[in-house]
Amino acid sequence: MPKNRKQVAENARSDGARATAAALRGIPASPGVVIGPAFLFGDILGEVEAKRIEPSEVETEIARLDDAVELVKKELTLDAERISSELGDSEAGIFLVHAMILEDVRFLDTIRDRIRTDLVNAESVIAAEMTHMSSVLMASDDSYLRDRSYDITDIGKRVIERMLGVWAHCPLTHPMIVVANELRASDTVSMDRGRVLGFVTEHGGREAHAAILSRALGVPAVVGVPSITGLVRSGELLIVDGSTGDVFVNPPPEMLARYSTKREEEAVAWAALAPFVEKPTSTSDGVCVKLMANISSVEEARDAAAVNVDGIGLFRTEMLFMAEGLGISEDEQYEVYRSVAEIMGTRPVTIRTLDIGGDKFVGSENPLQEHNPHLGYRSIRISLDNPELFTRQMRAILRAGLHGNVRVLWPMISCVDELRAAKTCLEDAKRALREGGVEFLEDVPIGAMIEIPSAVMVADRLAAESDFMSIGTNDLIQYTLAVDRGNVQVDHLYRPHDPAVLALIRRTVESGLAADVPVAVCGEMAGTVSYIPLLLGLGVRELSATPSRILLARRSVCETDSREAGELAERVMSAATVAEAGEILGISSPSGR
Ligand code: PEP
Ligand code: MG
Repeated sequence: MPKNRKQVAENARSDGARATAAALRGIPASPGVVIGPAFLFGDILGEVEAKRIEPSEVETEIARLDDAVELVKKELTLDAERISSELGDSEAGIFLVHAMILEDVRFLDTIRDRIRTDLVNAESVIAAEMTHMSSVLMASDDSYLRDRSYDITDIGKRVIERMLGVWAHCPLTHPMIVVANELRASDTVSMDRGRVLGFVTEHGGREAHAAILSRALGVPAVVGVPSITGLVRSGELLIVDGSTGDVFVNPPPEMLARYSTKREEEAVAWAALAPFVEKPTSTSDGVCVKLMANISSVEEARDAAAVNVDGIGLFRTEMLFMAEGLGISEDEQYEVYRSVAEIMGTRPVTIRTLDIGGDKFVGSENPLQEHNPHLGYRSIRISLDNPELFTRQMRAILRAGLHGNVRVLWPMISCVDELRAAKTCLEDAKRALREGGVEFLEDVPIGAMIEIPSAVMVADRLAAESDFMSIGTNDLIQYTLAVDRGNVQVDHLYRPHDPAVLALIRRTVESGLAADVPVAVCGEMAGTVSYIPLLLGLGVRELSATPSRILLARRSVCETDSREAGELAERVMSAATVAEAGEILGISSPSGR
């Protein structure tokens, strides 16, 4: 039995009593040490308060319970019908199993009896019963029964949510470490930044958007920690080391002292980066490198300006749509783009049009329930299919162009045809503005993201029709290696230094050089210190990284000799195996972080 499972079982066997301490290990996703209380995201079972009721209120309380149970049963039946028609009967089965649990008369009678005898609110009885049942199942040696424990907690949460009239998750009341089964990008953006100390998740990979956002927030994160949501309860003390992937639950005092010291050392190391705020970004032999920032909000543009970036290399606008909905108006978007343009002044601001789908949804779930969302309906495909949405965004960008140095970047371009179709929509947007007598930036530079291998293979033709290109290594790696960037099971195979990936980066850089079109790298590789000399050696001269990595990236560039970097790139490129490439780079973990 894996270590974490064993600990879960031990916890469960003691019938809910907590282990005093547990040492766990996941995948480091955002560096830094944080110590603080856990907040179990979506853990409504753990949040429910027990409230006393009067004997005269018992029947009303039971009626509330029965109404909520009936409502959830109906929802589950509808879910089962919908999923069955969309995906087939076997996928729908789980909803019917959930409905059957709620049909169990003995189970409901137990809850009704406890309301009568304990004289407490129904939600707290459900929470206690469900937690107990789930612990018992989790203690089983039978993996089928252990998996059912998740079903039990799911149903419990659903009934309680309906009784409380809440559908989402509890807000953070004070600074806490968010622990979740899996975080979606939309969950991450909806959280109060000032109150998130760190993230720990059971699922999700290093380059899933929630992990990228945690790096943007500059908060430590560890993903892929098995069973973490079964081991931790809200309020329990955690140590999270986002550099090593270590997570400690209820740590003993000596460990707390050790990690407090590590935190202080980190703070000293960060302070040592201060001189790099003012330094120009050039290699030790004087080659200038443009160091730009990846942002998703006006706030992050300010963070980027504070570390003197050369511009915004990637403005992920989908976060704006996630916060405001797809209906966000042209004017509302314009205000945001304009603010970022003004913050940057004459420096370029690269605004990427909507890139939803894959693991980024507007709303809580992927409405399409695709089997392969990363290969499905996402990004530019959605924009081109929805001209009103697409041109509305581009009108806002064109107008903001009058307030700074704005450029448009189109994501997930797979062929020249898509680039031309996007240009046609841009022309439509310009025409609409002209007809309305609205002023805008006529000659807005346009660029294609190179993040699909097919785009690399026609990069010369894309370069001929673009003003700039930007390599999105996060997607390029997943599509080249057939490794889902958000799937913890295959995280060890997500290796940016795979010679195949490097060959694609080099080819794109060469296509840009031949056409005199600048090529930036804006994927996470660009902000990863162990990959920066390699990228410089491959000929990359523009990097775009999250603001919290800018100073580290600048220091890395300043410490690199461009000729040595070129030799390094040659050696890595000629490696036969990924392991050999990793050895040359001195990389021990797949991420290189
Ligand atoms: C990328 O794919 O590398 C990229 C920068 O875009 P995103 O991470 O938003 O998909
Ligand atoms: Mg991408």
